[in-house]
Amino acid sequence: MTETEVSTERKPRQLNVFFDVDNTLIMWNGSLRNHVRDVFEALKEAGHEIYIWSGVGIREWDMKRHNLHDLITNYYVKPLEEHHAKLEGLGVPMIPDFVIDDHKAVVDAFGGYHIPDEAGPDDTELLTVLERIKAFALLDHDPDKVIPR
Ligand SMILES: [Mg+2]
Repeated sequence: MTETEVSTERKPRQLNVFFDVDNTLIMWNGSLRNHVRDVFEALKEAGHEIYIWSGVGIREWDMKRHNLHDLITNYYVKPLEEHHAKLEGLGVPMIPDFVIDDHKAVVDAFGGYHIPDEAGPDDTELLTVLERIKAFALLDHDPDKVIPR
């Protein structure tokens, strides 16, 4: 390959991924959903940033309690309505690239994955989330994101 040739292989975008807490990561009985740590580690490994937000407040304590705090970039309060308009007032300094939420309205507002609010013992929803995020990160057709060879 000469210097002027460019591979068509796309470099994945680095995404700001926002996870809801209740009935997304922590289920009704207080247990952690399956695969949280593994999926968070894989997202970090792929260069993505993980944010935790919740409509009921900053959930840093919950993430510390489940030994996930080291993987979290920051915590925010989630807007429950007028999702885009309320970001700034809640101190969220960016528009989420991908959200995971059991409330469909949040996913409709930003794009992402609407996760079931119940999880059985063999739940693999977060593995699906990981695959969706990886695929979404490759969707950008911006030629500047092409890896030069
Ligand atoms: Mg929820």
